[in-house]
Amino acid sequence: MTTYLIRGARILGGDPTDLLLSDGVIAEIGPGLSADGAEVVDGTGMVLLPGLVDLHTHLREPGREDAETVETGTMAAAMGGFTAVHAMANTEPVADTAGVVEQVWRLGREAGHCDVFPVGAVTVGLQGERLAELGAMADSAARVRVFSDDGRCVSDPVLMRRALEYVKAFDGVIAQHPQEPRLTEDAQMNEGELSGRLGLRGWPSVAEEAIIARDCLLAAHVGSRLHVCHVSTAGSVELIRWAKSKGWNVTAEACPHHLLLTDQLAASYDPIYKVNPPLRSADDVEALRAGLADGTLDVVATDHAPHPHEDKDCEWQAAAFGMLGLETALSVVQEAMVDTGLLTWAGVAERMSYAPARIGQLPGHGRPVAEGEPANLVLYDPSARHVVEASELASLSRNTPYAGRELPGRVVATFLRGKPTVLDGKLA
Ligand SMILES: [Zn+2]
Repeated sequence: MTTYLIRGARILGGDPTDLLLSDGVIAEIGPGLSADGAEVVDGTGMVLLPGLVDLHTHLREPGREDAETVETGTMAAAMGGFTAVHAMANTEPVADTAGVVEQVWRLGREAGHCDVFPVGAVTVGLQGERLAELGAMADSAARVRVFSDDGRCVSDPVLMRRALEYVKAFDGVIAQHPQEPRLTEDAQMNEGELSGRLGLRGWPSVAEEAIIARDCLLAAHVGSRLHVCHVSTAGSVELIRWAKSKGWNVTAEACPHHLLLTDQLAASYDPIYKVNPPLRSADDVEALRAGLADGTLDVVATDHAPHPHEDKDCEWQAAAFGMLGLETALSVVQEAMVDTGLLTWAGVAERMSYAPARIGQLPGHGRPVAEGEPANLVLYDPSARHVVEASELASLSRNTPYAGRELPGRVVATFLRGKPTVLDGKLA
């Protein structure tokens, strides 16, 4: 196995140093290490972070290989600096049995661009009627710990209570997609002055906040672990802050697009900006940034949601919800959080690697950058600028909301257990 010497990189944005990667681990850290027999990677001016971990990725396989496959989705992940992703369960068939989660897990191992940890569905077929075989998925080779009906809300409070109770046996977590279904029937965009003017059905903040409040109370009542997916409103941040102040076991994520983009983009009627939950107001964006900075929101998760051309390139009402996220996540977080002074690089490591790995209970990921630790790393050039070209993305789909937009930073290299998956900004 090739040995790599990363020369002069700033670990978590600290002082420049060298790192020797050998046999899958960080063998040595220190200035002026010998390059003898090692391949040298120039890290001058670059930030070195632990490999990123995504709690929320849609890889679409099995069933929608026209949108993404495990192979292309993990290529996109590696290009974005990720060494592990959680694959959401809303595939066809749904990942609601040990058989399907093991299939996704195996496909991830074969692809090899990053580790894939399947998320199990909470209810059979995401139908919200009866619990899926959570225990069998937890005991399977895929070792599922995160369960979610993402794309749909577990809206029945009795089912949600049972799910929260059930996963306590193996310290699992229910990741809720908080969307009250009756309040969002045919909803298209954030409810506000603009939705009225555009004639698009509004999606009120309360539809998200009501479920979050209910689920925090349920999680506290049964003493279980709740994770809140893609928080998008200022009121949701307040509720989670309140739940945490009570000492309840609640964690939450924000998506890069909700940290940078607002509902005003819908005025173009371009469905590239159609996403679930919707882009919100500038005040919501500000509240999310503050919540992420002070730790109310634990994690940045991409909600990478690839869709083929025909599902996005149509009128707003008919278009699918969702946008790509893996390859632009770190750049967007730099622009929204680091360049604004809200988060340090150590803070980015916490929100995009340590915390998601803890919540997902992933062995070998989200580890400190230290000697003897697995060499899961991303080398990132924060001084680079680039214009996003949709056609150049590794994802099979093209639905990025940042096409043509200039973003800061560039992933130069990603290492998975000491082996580069990305080198010189290209797939290795
Ligand atoms: Zn969702």
